[in-house]
Amino acid sequence: MLSPLGKGIFALIILATISGFLIPVIQRIRIITSGQPDQRFRNLARRMASSLSKILLQRCTLKNERVFSGFMHVFIFYGALTFDTMSLNHTLEGFFSDFYLFGDTGFGLFYSLMVDVFAVLVLIGVLFFAFRRFVIRPKAYATTPGDSLIIYVALFLITLSYMYFEIFAIAHHPESERLAFLGGYLARSLTAGLSSAVITQHFYIAWWLHILLVFGFIVYVPHSKYFHMFAGSFNLLVNRDTPMGELPALDIENSEVFGIEKGLDYTWKDLLDPFACMECGRCQDACPAFASDKPLSPKMIIYNLKQHLLQSRSQYTSKDRDGLKALMDGVFTPDEIWSCTTCGACMHVCPVEIEHIPKIVGLRQGQVLMESKFPGELNAFFRNMETNSNPWGIGFSDRAAWAEGLNVKLLSESSHADYLFWVGCAGSFDEEGKKISRALVSILQKARIDFAILGAEEKCCGDSARRLGNEYLYQMQAAENILAFHNAKVQRIITICPHGYNTFKHEYSALLPLLPDLPAEAKESFARIEINHHTQLIAELLREGRIHLNSGKDLLLTYHDSCYLGRHNGIIREPREILARIEGAKFKELPQCREHSFCCGAGGGLMWTEESLGQRINHMRTDEIISASPDLAVTSCPFCQTMLHDGLKDKDQSHIQVKDIAQLVAESLAD
Ligand code: SF4
Ligand code: SF4
Repeated sequence: MLSPLGKGIFALIILATISGFLIPVIQRIRIITSGQPDQRFRNLARRMASSLSKILLQRCTLKNERVFSGFMHVFIFYGALTFDTMSLNHTLEGFFSDFYLFGDTGFGLFYSLMVDVFAVLVLIGVLFFAFRRFVIRPKAYATTPGDSLIIYVALFLITLSYMYFEIFAIAHHPESERLAFLGGYLARSLTAGLSSAVITQHFYIAWWLHILLVFGFIVYVPHSKYFHMFAGSFNLLVNRDTPMGELPALDIENSEVFGIEKGLDYTWKDLLDPFACMECGRCQDACPAFASDKPLSPKMIIYNLKQHLLQSRSQYTSKDRDGLKALMDGVFTPDEIWSCTTCGACMHVCPVEIEHIPKIVGLRQGQVLMESKFPGELNAFFRNMETNSNPWGIGFSDRAAWAEGLNVKLLSESSHADYLFWVGCAGSFDEEGKKISRALVSILQKARIDFAILGAEEKCCGDSARRLGNEYLYQMQAAENILAFHNAKVQRIITICPHGYNTFKHEYSALLPLLPDLPAEAKESFARIEINHHTQLIAELLREGRIHLNSGKDLLLTYHDSCYLGRHNGIIREPREILARIEGAKFKELPQCREHSFCCGAGGGLMWTEESLGQRINHMRTDEIISASPDLAVTSCPFCQTMLHDGLKDKDQSHIQVKDIAQLVAESLAD
């Protein structure tokens, strides 16, 4: 449709647009690829199928609480796809008059209908997001308002300018109406009476206006959070194929830097995440640290990392590690990184599957292992772990003292047991934890399960030390435990602690190749061990009729999902299945439950630090329990139990009891 001169100018504009888009994109790719290697392309076909289904079905944005915003995002997403295709058509139309990508096919008719439908939906979506951001102004949206404004105005004008073009295109060539109901109606209403010269003039003005707006926006996209359209989609392709609760193993033997000191210590995937972030703030809304007024926002961790990457672009692209400032030197603060409970709420809600926890724990590792900088109260914790392998520092030889008189076998004295009952530190030394251990013993004995404990040969599983950044201590304890399992010929483990469960189930296996001193047979036998949380085993025993529960407890129960059991490991059904079998008891879910549960505040090793900033997280969770007015709050983690117990006591609500599910079952066991 353009003259030869017009085509020449248009070709130059296209080249300028492509360069304007590609130059910043290449700069960002160079920053990302400066990171450490990370194997993220295994099972590529499965990854592609999974990411495509998340993107095309918009499962990524519809998966969580913000369902209404999710639908608005769907409008804009499909609108963008439709208009991107139309922009290609529009561009080619500049060179070939009356060009229509889909010709006179059925799909061509359908597509012309969809363009008008999505023009309306995109305008609705944009107005919704603009209203939300600039009128309602939630904290989650606080970053880069200027960028948002440019995006909303650009999308609005691009859509309107397309409609302007469509109206005059139909007036100019009535056959191009096809099923464009809106353009057709507006063309008949607005252009009636206009001369063909005026219509032609508007047709060309509208064409140029629309294409220049589109090209201008294309050049802007790499500098904006709208870039998540590309980086976020790629992020979904290369997401972790390991469970959310599993931290990557640190190769202590072959590393020069332990943990993260500078941005170049992160993997390329860690450096991709900030560019994938759409700054939606879902992670911040879900974060218990942010909700309790601590100086941590998972969104700001990602946002500040992106600002730093762009500010230090030349050091990243030239891999100049010496020229880079340390991340804890102004990019992040100690109060931020030591406020994380590793609850996983941020990662669970993130539409583009950004991985916040490994970044935060990596920084803790750098602080602990390279700088010896950590909250003062952890001195005692690390010392106690090193000397007695438990956080309280109680003599390790007393580890089986809780079982006195219970007729519990020690594996060291017994040639075989079907199950190892992994008691854990809380189950061995904490007064409330010991009650859980005794309760589980009575259940196992009632079901005639052949089990034994390790006693003094059991060490801490290492979860807290690991999440507090002391990978060295964790690996030492893990190696000793794996050897103890091998020596005792352990085949199946039951644990009352979700942290132990998560560590054995996911993290020890990843560590095996990094423990050169561990005998190969010990590694092989560990790989065959079956790991069970006690809720799984109790549910199975009830299902199989190996234990029965008495009826008649007239109690209102509620259940607190432990982050490491529910969200990190998906064990959500089993505890509810058990509670449903307690006849006569009524059950009420907490507002934040299942995979959306709110942390008790003890995860990430924070059980062992002082919570001096903001509100106490356990008080916030306790408030939720108090408003449900149960007789009994049931837990399935000794740390959660302690935190809720303390919270209810602090709030003078001790008439609401807190018990582990094993205690409730043990009390309800029928003869
Ligand atoms: S893991 Fe939990 S506490 Fe840590 S940043 Fe994410 S939501 Fe916040
Ligand atoms: S990290 Fe994920 S959830 Fe958080 S703001 Fe970015 S895209 Fe949203």
